[in-house]
Amino acid sequence: MSFKNVIVVGGGLAGLIASIRLVRSGIACTLIEKKNYPFHRVCGEYISNETLPFLKRESLFSETLSPPAINQFQLSSVNGKSTKLSLDSGGFGISRFTLDNFLYQKALHEGVNVIVEQEVESVFFLDDEDMFTVKTPRQEFSASLVIGAFGKRSRMDNTLKRGFIQKRSPYVGVKYHIRTNHPDNLIGLHNFNGGYCGISNIEDGKTNLCYLVQRKQVKRFKGIRDMEETVLFQNPFLKSIFHSADFLFDNPETINEISFETKEPVLNHILMAGDAAGMIAPLCGNGMAMAIHTGKIVSDLIVQAVAESRSRAWLEAAYADRWTSTFAGRLRTGRLIQNYLFGSAWSSRVAVNLAVHSSWLAKQIIKKTHGLPF
Ligand SMILES: Cc1cc2nc3c(=O)[nH]c(=O)nc-3n(C[C@H](O)[C@H](O)[C@H](O)COP(=O)(O)OP(=O)(O)OC[C@H]3O[C@@H](n4cnc5c(N)ncnc54)[C@H](O)[C@@H]3O)c2cc1C
Repeated sequence: MSFKNVIVVGGGLAGLIASIRLVRSGIACTLIEKKNYPFHRVCGEYISNETLPFLKRESLFSETLSPPAINQFQLSSVNGKSTKLSLDSGGFGISRFTLDNFLYQKALHEGVNVIVEQEVESVFFLDDEDMFTVKTPRQEFSASLVIGAFGKRSRMDNTLKRGFIQKRSPYVGVKYHIRTNHPDNLIGLHNFNGGYCGISNIEDGKTNLCYLVQRKQVKRFKGIRDMEETVLFQNPFLKSIFHSADFLFDNPETINEISFETKEPVLNHILMAGDAAGMIAPLCGNGMAMAIHTGKIVSDLIVQAVAESRSRAWLEAAYADRWTSTFAGRLRTGRLIQNYLFGSAWSSRVAVNLAVHSSWLAKQIIKKTHGLPF
């Protein structure tokens, strides 16, 4: 079957990577993004090095971005007991503001038809015509394939009546950019009651401070600042970072209702990529790598399907299989770690003790939440 044109819904890492690779292979691609670049997102902005060979090979990474290289991991419990581990594969730090904008410019340059500031409100597959209709409030499009790369939570999830969206999710994410004296090669993960906070450097001498917190914890206070002072500051590392830093945003970036429920990699014939297919717990530091990797896998399989005249059924089955074998185990491990080793005085003490007494085991756990270089 010939898939003549593809629409990608959502221009985060998964959508941008998939669309660039499709046009490079001669497949017409339109990407629809509801915001306009550049913009900030809630994200820890630490990218696992497993992505580097791919990004460099495909000129999707520019050395001029010069992100700090990160190879040390510091973990602290709610009460501030801490330990450090070296990271076997490590990663680098770069803001989404910069990275996504870099990829957006690349996408334009390579010939992706990027439509910004339009939110897709529905995607229908028309069986008779074997085609999709994609609607925004202003325009209607036809496509032979649709990639859903609309992130962790989107109005598309409502339209598609996905199971996870019916349930309330207990997590809220908060992000700041700050200036502080944080070593370039270190990523810190500091626990507090009801959540955990990551801290690592990004480009231009800035530092990302990003945390995940249970909504019930936030609701106990008048505002975020109150909660930070009462709850996060119980951890001496966080208190010291907050006190010594210059905060670069007027207000933090926040996101509500973050869900780690299982999702479908293919739904209503839409191939889901990145967080739209499944979101890994942020403490694993692997969501961006997974988004990039799904962008690669979905575009590889579409190109293969076109070259070998494969059917839609073949493509959907092949993608669901590849997605499950590559990512499902990682997501399960991430959920277990987040539920049992983080976010309370007791569990975070267990996590730190585990890392102190068996760095081998701690490294095995980290390994299970990451993939191999691709
Ligand atoms: C608190 C927190 C910390 C994190 N820290 C890290 C970290 O340090 N390292 C890491 O690797 N990962 C981290 N992650 C995970 C990481 O941010 C995600 O896994 C990654 O951004 C997923 O990329 P994506 O392309 O799937 O989605 P996104 O980057 O979310 O992109 C989706 C895009 O779709 C657009 N969109 C949505 N709906 C529509 C629509 N209907 N029409 C048009 N456009 C639409 C959105 O505007 C958005 O631009 C963290 C996540 C959280 C919540």
